[in-house]
Amino acid sequence: MDRTGTQVQVKEFFEEGELVGVLTAQPLDRILDYKAPEGGCWRGAFVEVPLGPRKVLGVVWGEGKGDFDYAKVRSILRVLNVAPMREEMRSFLLKAGDYTLTPMSAMLRLATRAPGLGDAPSMRKVYRLGEGVPERLTEARARVIEVLRDYGGLSFTLGELAEMAGVGTSVVKGLVKMGAVREEDTPRDTPYMRLDPSYGGKTLTEDQAACAEVITQGMREGKYATTLLKGVTGSGKTEVYLEAVAECLRLGRQALVLLPEIALTSEFITRVEARFGAKPAEWHSGVTMTERRRCWKMVGQGEAQMVVGARSALFLPFRDLGLIVVDEEHDTSYKQEDGALYNARDMAVLRASLNDAQVVLASATPSLESWANADAGKYRRLDLVSRFGEAVMPKISAIDMRSEDVPSGRWISPSLQSGITRRIEKGEQSLVFLNRRGYAPVTICRACGHQIACDHCDARMVEHRFLKRLMCHQCGETKPMPEACPSCQVEGKLAPVGPGVERISEEVEALFPYARTVILSSDLFGSARALKERIEQIAAGEADIIIGTQIVAKGHNFPLLTLVGVIDADLGLQGSDLRAAERTFQLMRQVAGRAGRAAAQGEAVLQTYQPEHPVIRAILSGDEEDFWAAEAEQRRMAGVPPYGRMAGIVLSSPSVQEVFDLGSELAKRDGPLRQIGAQVYGPAPAPIARIRGRHRVRLLVKAAKGAPIQQALAAWVAQVRVPGSVRLSIDIDPQSFY
Ligand code: ADP
Ligand code: ZN
Repeated sequence: MDRTGTQVQVKEFFEEGELVGVLTAQPLDRILDYKAPEGGCWRGAFVEVPLGPRKVLGVVWGEGKGDFDYAKVRSILRVLNVAPMREEMRSFLLKAGDYTLTPMSAMLRLATRAPGLGDAPSMRKVYRLGEGVPERLTEARARVIEVLRDYGGLSFTLGELAEMAGVGTSVVKGLVKMGAVREEDTPRDTPYMRLDPSYGGKTLTEDQAACAEVITQGMREGKYATTLLKGVTGSGKTEVYLEAVAECLRLGRQALVLLPEIALTSEFITRVEARFGAKPAEWHSGVTMTERRRCWKMVGQGEAQMVVGARSALFLPFRDLGLIVVDEEHDTSYKQEDGALYNARDMAVLRASLNDAQVVLASATPSLESWANADAGKYRRLDLVSRFGEAVMPKISAIDMRSEDVPSGRWISPSLQSGITRRIEKGEQSLVFLNRRGYAPVTICRACGHQIACDHCDARMVEHRFLKRLMCHQCGETKPMPEACPSCQVEGKLAPVGPGVERISEEVEALFPYARTVILSSDLFGSARALKERIEQIAAGEADIIIGTQIVAKGHNFPLLTLVGVIDADLGLQGSDLRAAERTFQLMRQVAGRAGRAAAQGEAVLQTYQPEHPVIRAILSGDEEDFWAAEAEQRRMAGVPPYGRMAGIVLSSPSVQEVFDLGSELAKRDGPLRQIGAQVYGPAPAPIARIRGRHRVRLLVKAAKGAPIQQALAAWVAQVRVPGSVRLSIDIDPQSFY
């Protein structure tokens, strides 16, 4: 609308030679003018344009500015053969960019993360029934022909066909030579198999059906809404939201399910296939480049009905997105911590609101943000209170470590030990949980007291005994364990201090030499596939004791697991993180929820030195609403998220002087922030004061909830000149404070 309130006509098509503004993914931060190519182009078209000596990808963003000599303006080279960017996608990128203070070029990079979008479609060979007759109809040949007849006109890849017929690929190739099977080239970017919403639905329980009804009702109304679906692990949240996906498919719209961890996708894909009769599209870092491109293109053409993916799937060019599910919505991995700083949960809500779509946030332990939004009536809240079938919630109790007799260098209390023994006798599984990778967090010299630290970071090196190396968890640098202390040169005095999951595994093996043990830690698996295999083995009962980090807390289903022992429940309570209490509460409840998913009663025990700590007490009592209400009250009093706004600013540079100088200058010139009533804290050394050789200084900005913090921040940092050697990053709603 213009100022007089009349609708302004946006120009949608540009004739050859007309000036258009093109947004590219290059870090230029301005939209460049080009001439529309022969045949003209639409607004939103993906194009290839010349930029200096290069050809780059861009999007026709609107009319050109015309502030440049027309004769010198270059022409768009060609319009790519992909669906143009839709209006709602453009406004999503603009709004998400404004919110996170990310330049539009970086937003476009997020939206075009598929290789070769401009390439001619690559081809692959497929096989279908031919006219010829095989010379000799062996049993194997007959099977191939039968499969092709059964599937009518369909064609398959060599591998698919051979597998379906149960023959070697040479049999198929033989048939091609005889003309009985035809070999053809088809484009690789083919549509996904249709999903059938009524293929394999389960009969929902009354509670589940009631929840599903509310969401599907919302789907049918075709309006935006967000639902927080809260339910204990195993209560059937997944069944409920798959029902919402089914309704979305029936309405002919597309559905997106976000998962926090790639390791969970294959288990989930299998489940989707059982529910809808075919596999959905997949989008995450474990997917091949060709498959990514196929996914991107088909999503844009509406030929992928459902996508299962990581947070970046939010930026796929959906043609008609009707539903976004964010599973395990509290998970911190939804916050992108490098590159563009966005929280996929919040961006999902934004995207859905622009698409008249529904959002389902599913969790057993929602984030305080979502809890507060539901509390304030912004989100709808649905609760599933009981587990499906006979499964009941585990009993949670504490082991007071102050009264346990644990020798030094040992961490498993006698109480936990006897609990595990009982489970082994009954043929059940136990999980020993410690959220710390590696063998020992600290390596100290017993001669001089020196602790081995990373050369590039302000962090200790963590011993990884399986890898036979020391590793820095900040920068990933590794080095061999030295013979002598790097400080005093004395040999043979270096000793591990404190436990990591590898060390606990050693202790478990010593205490239970006859038991089968398995260790699950993200760094011990080269691939998602290897991890998946290990998880399947455990689920099948091929282990008595599992020793794991938080990777086991995330959604895997181990039916034989009845005891969870937490080595150090106090671990997450140390430190000054705003969310320490919330995180510990969530993690402990998630881990405890692993126990007793089948018919057997589960039990979780927490080893703690402070059983009277309010967070530990809340975990034990299981009174979640009380815990959240108390936590919410504390945050409200302190004026911190979700009751106030925050932004974290990190300055980093090889020179410590430089970052402190710039930080102090920013702190002094706080006018634009004061105008909106915001305060600046700092500069102070960041909790990790040096990473990869760069010194880090933090400032923290706090403002009232409704304050226009983005504009103020932009005006604030625009006052100073940031030297090329300094990196300045602004994190709106920071999740972590490292
Ligand atoms: P959540 O997502 O809350 O952890 P799931 O949806 O994974 O729970 O359900 C837990 C288990 O119970 C799954 O194996 C699921 O298939 C099964 N289940 C849940 N609801 C039903 C139902 N109505 N009928 C049959 N099986 C169900
Ligand atoms: Zn390091």
